[in-house]
Amino acid sequence: MSELDLLRLIRSRVPPLGPGIVLGIGDDCAIFRPRGSREDLVFTTDMVLEDVHFRRQTHPGEIVGWRALARGLSDIAAMGAQPRFCLVSLALAPWADDAWVDAFYRGLTRLARMTGTTVAGGDLARAEKLACDVAVCGSVPRGKALRRDGARPGDAIYVSGRLGGAALGLETRSGAAWNKHATPEPRLSLGVFVRERLRATAALDLSDGLSLDLHRLCLASGAGAEIAGRDMPVFAGATIEQALHGGEDYELLFTLRPRAKVPELYEGLRLTRIGVITEGTPGLVLLDGRPLEAGGYDHFRSR
Ligand SMILES: [Mg+2]
Repeated sequence: MSELDLLRLIRSRVPPLGPGIVLGIGDDCAIFRPRGSREDLVFTTDMVLEDVHFRRQTHPGEIVGWRALARGLSDIAAMGAQPRFCLVSLALAPWADDAWVDAFYRGLTRLARMTGTTVAGGDLARAEKLACDVAVCGSVPRGKALRRDGARPGDAIYVSGRLGGAALGLETRSGAAWNKHATPEPRLSLGVFVRERLRATAALDLSDGLSLDLHRLCLASGAGAEIAGRDMPVFAGATIEQALHGGEDYELLFTLRPRAKVPELYEGLRLTRIGVITEGTPGLVLLDGRPLEAGGYDHFRSR
């Protein structure tokens, strides 16, 4: 079963959305609308597991803490929202001593401070392997959250930054590529810019690789996509394969009305048009005219 199959199963099992839930399973965040509020609240939760998302030999506690929060903040950015608070649950393995916990919280709170995210609570437990879950709540003006189902044929497809850096960094463990992997910067102000100024039709964050994440955006929007290899903003030193399929870049992928005016740079970050949304088979992405396999990271594919 792929992750998408499993999500379908779960969706068929959970009861219909309760009052106030505007958007449920299947996007970067769920959306809750408090009665009478001018803001919607968005929620996301992400796990970080030892030997799945990090290894204790290569990832110091500070980096694990930073990345654990960065994953959720990137989902908040993808909704065009601003973070409010997070809840941090941590199951400690026998090897994780006080110094490690201290380092973990140093990394996590550094990013929390930088982004105005309050650490409001959590849970502690013990386990065989270290496991962590960070839930983040953000807010966005009522009805304005960016979703992944709004792309329409003719819309232009954009990505921020350069792709493949995190995959390269995990391989080389050095230089700018390692920083891209170890301390990714959630694109929070870009998310707001893309929502408010560019009036994006859809967005998500690149957590599992462009090929899989664009496939997801297309599936949700009931559309296809055509992208061009030569337009791909590949991270210096990375391969086109890493740019297409490497996960954890935490850049934003968004779609815009055909005539939208887009600056080349936003706060020093490149914005690149990589293709167009089409009336093609829903979910089908063509790279230079050929079907692109959704080869990004899927926890369940290899089982
Ligand atoms: Mg996401």
